[in-house]
Amino acid sequence: MAQFWNQSCRPVNKKQNALSFSSHPCAAGIQSFAAHGGPLNNAFDVIVAGGGIAGLSAGLYAARFGRRTLVLGGNVPGGLLLSIEHIEGLPGFPEGVPGYDLCPIMQEQAEAAGAGFASAELERIETHGDGWCIHAGSETYTARALVVATGARLRALGVPGEAALDGKGVSHCASCDAPLLRGCAVVVVGSGDSAMQESLHLSSHASKVTMLHRGSALGGQASYRERVLADPRIEHRYGVVVTEILGDGAVTGVRMQPTGGGPGSELEASGVFVYIGVEPNAGVVRELVECDDRGHIRTDAYLRTARRGLFAAGIVRAGASGQAAGAAGDGVNAAIMADRYLRNGIWN
Ligand SMILES: Cc1cc2nc3c(=O)[nH]c(=O)nc-3n(C[C@H](O)[C@H](O)[C@H](O)COP(=O)(O)OP(=O)(O)OC[C@H]3O[C@@H](n4cnc5c(N)ncnc54)[C@H](O)[C@@H]3O)c2cc1C
Repeated sequence: MAQFWNQSCRPVNKKQNALSFSSHPCAAGIQSFAAHGGPLNNAFDVIVAGGGIAGLSAGLYAARFGRRTLVLGGNVPGGLLLSIEHIEGLPGFPEGVPGYDLCPIMQEQAEAAGAGFASAELERIETHGDGWCIHAGSETYTARALVVATGARLRALGVPGEAALDGKGVSHCASCDAPLLRGCAVVVVGSGDSAMQESLHLSSHASKVTMLHRGSALGGQASYRERVLADPRIEHRYGVVVTEILGDGAVTGVRMQPTGGGPGSELEASGVFVYIGVEPNAGVVRELVECDDRGHIRTDAYLRTARRGLFAAGIVRAGASGQAAGAAGDGVNAAIMADRYLRNGIWN
């Protein structure tokens, strides 16, 4: 999955950075880090944490504005989109586009604009003069502006059997695992866009897809709802919650409980796909910024957090659209606002 990152993504070359630093048009702005004793060759104008569509868009625009830019891509280059077989709703792609095609192109575009990449995760940040000191892997970087675009991870059910059978029939990736379950009955837990989209993908491989809904109706976009309800291979059970995933070494089914009470029941399945929402990857900055009650980072309309020089973009942000186009727009906006901040130094 991380192949393209390894192929086309060069870890930041320190020597190169040091050389380009002195001639870089923004060098004056970076000098402050030298004055603060920061490592000159690891000093950036803008560091973007996150290699998903928000982070890649922020990296592209920060570089286009001539800012010395580093994208810390984390462990999943391309983010959530990388494993999506058919991204829908992205302007310019009326037929959809596979994530594994789109993500490398976005990265290459940001690189061509001048952004540097490192596949490390942002692990810790602390204030450093009028900017930030950023710890990632074995490296320490400095930047006056930091865009946190660390995205989200799919939420787990948290029921018995789930962890033990992860990768043995329990999955969060229909595109990856649907071919392995050709002709088998599978269960999809969830009622939103992701659950419907992945059910549609699974229905072309599995013998039957049963969607398990906690509520009494499908959520999400009408575009998905209509297709899911019209698909003869997708069945629906409403008003149930999964209480256990069954199997010994491989998934054999699920145990369910009606939400309104009453006796539980079991359903046979060889695969269980869980799409019950996401949890933001905001832990690394949670102590520094304000978050909503679900852990998403709060920003103002300019994507500024409560901390000077710290922006948030994409699905990690409170109020984000949850769509790829929205995350791209966030990344662009955050980079433009970061550039403005670096130019005029005004935060409020
Ligand atoms: C199953 C599914 C199907 C979807 N289908 C569609 C669709 O068809 N159309 C659509 O518009 N949207 C779709 N979405 C939503 C879309 O995936 C998200 O809106 C989008 O990926 C959000 O982008 P992001 O960059 O904010 O976050 P992410 O995609 O989550 O990317 C976050 C990035 O940050 C990195 N990271 C995490 N922690 C750190 C750290 N500490 N330091 C550095 N990097 C870090 C990760 O490795 C990753 O690279 C789908 C989502 C799911 C789950």
